[in-house]
Amino acid sequence: MSFQLNKIPIQKIKGINEKKARALATVGVQTIQDLLEYKPRRHLDRSMILPINKLQENEEVTVVGDIVEKRKIPRGRRRLIITIHDGKGTLEGVWFNQVELFDKIFQERQTVALSGKVTRFKRWQMVHPDFDILAEYRDKLHTGQIIPVYPGTESLRKAGLNSYSFRRIIHDVLKEYEKEIAEILPAKLIKKYKLLPRAAAFKQLHFPESSEKLHQVFRRFKYEELFFLELLMALRKHFYQAPVQAAHMSIDDDLIKKAVEAFPFKLTEAQRKVLTEIYSDLKSGHPMNRLLQGDVGSGKTVVALVAMLMAISSGYQAALMAPTEILAQQHYFNIQDLVHQPIAISFLIGSLTANEKTQIHDQLAGGELDLVIGTHALIQENVHFKKLGLVIVDEQHRFGVMQRAELVSKGVYPHVLVMTATPIPRSLALTLYGDLDVSTIDELPPGRQKLRTFWREEDKINLIYEFIRGKIEDGQQAYIIYPLIEESEKMDLKAATEAYKLLQKKIFPDHMLALLHGRLKMEEKERIMNDFKQGKIDVLISTTVIEVGVDVPNATVMVIEHAERFGLSQLHQLRGRVGRGSKESFCILVTPDDINEIAQKRMQVLAKTNNGFFIAEEDLRLRGSGEFFGTRQHGLPDFRYADLVQDKNIVQTARKDAFELVDKDPHLRFTQHQTTREYFKERFREKFYMKHIA
Ligand code: ADP
Ligand code: MG
Repeated sequence: MSFQLNKIPIQKIKGINEKKARALATVGVQTIQDLLEYKPRRHLDRSMILPINKLQENEEVTVVGDIVEKRKIPRGRRRLIITIHDGKGTLEGVWFNQVELFDKIFQERQTVALSGKVTRFKRWQMVHPDFDILAEYRDKLHTGQIIPVYPGTESLRKAGLNSYSFRRIIHDVLKEYEKEIAEILPAKLIKKYKLLPRAAAFKQLHFPESSEKLHQVFRRFKYEELFFLELLMALRKHFYQAPVQAAHMSIDDDLIKKAVEAFPFKLTEAQRKVLTEIYSDLKSGHPMNRLLQGDVGSGKTVVALVAMLMAISSGYQAALMAPTEILAQQHYFNIQDLVHQPIAISFLIGSLTANEKTQIHDQLAGGELDLVIGTHALIQENVHFKKLGLVIVDEQHRFGVMQRAELVSKGVYPHVLVMTATPIPRSLALTLYGDLDVSTIDELPPGRQKLRTFWREEDKINLIYEFIRGKIEDGQQAYIIYPLIEESEKMDLKAATEAYKLLQKKIFPDHMLALLHGRLKMEEKERIMNDFKQGKIDVLISTTVIEVGVDVPNATVMVIEHAERFGLSQLHQLRGRVGRGSKESFCILVTPDDINEIAQKRMQVLAKTNNGFFIAEEDLRLRGSGEFFGTRQHGLPDFRYADLVQDKNIVQTARKDAFELVDKDPHLRFTQHQTTREYFKERFREKFYMKHIA
């Protein structure tokens, strides 16, 4: 019921012909609802607009006035000039390009807004200003105190769609459909927070009576977006906690105790605490759905291992999925080293031979394997488990929700643990992981030497090589990292390859260097990583394939070339490869001397702190929440109104309201599920919806 307007195509509106409809489709407007939601890019408040007689030369301003004259000047430099008058003075808008087009766009007696820098050339002028047509001659649709200005694109303009025509069209839409704009927030909440009803909010968005009303519009839509996001989280959480029978774990406590005692180290307090949480999840009878976050090197793998032993000792199979083959392999070796119990472990990655894979598939299906470690190869269709009870996903941000779901679907309500070394700002953890229980390892194993980070400019590179040489001669190892990004992959790879050759020949002729990158064959990568682990290689030149998880305690220096090309969190991840042993470690960030201010800030933050949570906060602050969350790793929708950082208070309120609603009322739970689905479908189209609710 509530989303009918989303089903009516815009062609239903008088004045929208095929051409206009096509142009509107290019900006995602296809239905009546889309039109209502079409958000003005700004609102011009007339009382804030400078009268022409108060202008100052070279100021950036917006003026609003009527076109009193239009001239095409054919001589000299061809140009179109419009003269506008605002009751106080006159100003000229001048266009040198596309004279014919602008001649068609502007007509005398239109009301226009021009924005740009004013110059004085006999009269006040703006050259190629930003413009909007706010009203047209003899039209009764008056322009109020606050005038919405809509986003304009070339194709909209060509179809004759300017701010004025949007107002015209939306005016007609409201006249016809206002009564059908249904409220979608619970009445109780509207009342509690004195929110504008939805119909009024749309009306005020496009025809605001006052800036106060406009403020209320924004407040309402922010709340609405965040409420539905949190409702989604609440519903997902509820789904996971629904009374489905999870794999029943009768954990062999004795076996677990013995396994832990056999480790070559004592678990940290933090690791113990997290394991207690996991233990009680596994015993609870409900499927566990837990996120384990902990800084690089905090020892998540061991926790994963113990959790898997719990499942295996209860007669289930466990699977650990990692994002790269190198990581999967490392987990495989480490875990084999740590486990002394007679359990059957195998390793499944894409680059195995068909025969090898078939054999493992058979063993998994037949229940002969207790534990499998692998990559995406684990979620292929032909992989079946006899009794999959626990799924662990390492570096979860590298996988989509769907991929995780695919692995989960291979068991019958298996328990799920996802792990991440990319801590997200504490302030936002609840919003983002609302449906997961979160465990945090907030302590590093003891005995770690501090990792010190320095930022140096490129002209110091020879000193840095000297430093590395000293460490090598002392028996330690180093990484030199080159950036490799998808867009310029070929060139980046070339740069890394050339650097490698040069370094081996000219700088470290007496030492062993190797080059590692994603294009190498699996066996080759494996060989290099093993040689590096065993100390046969002194300096590993690498692209970011080693970004996550790789563990070589004897490597104590990491040099990151072109560090300015990496994000803050990524740099922090990278440097987590060193400082894993008992010797003092160093990370040296190398950049050109002319990097921009934000990049400088990033370097300074890294040099100052090793705290992953603090770095995540800074990353968020430096990038702004739009960009931070726009990145794939967080997979949130692009809100139109809400900002997760600035609107933190609304996030908290909306969260409380949404969870209360879902917890208290099973009927509402069902209807709200429908509404939520539709809401996300409508607002964010398939993309977000598919990823999160499908
Ligand atoms: P991450 O959390 O980044 O995945 P790992 O699990 O790879 O970290 O652990 C990093 C290193 O610390 C490994 O060499 C691991 O064996 C070691 N480690 C883990 N837990 C402890 C502990 N309690 N005491 C000492 N060393 C530990
Ligand atoms: Mg790890």
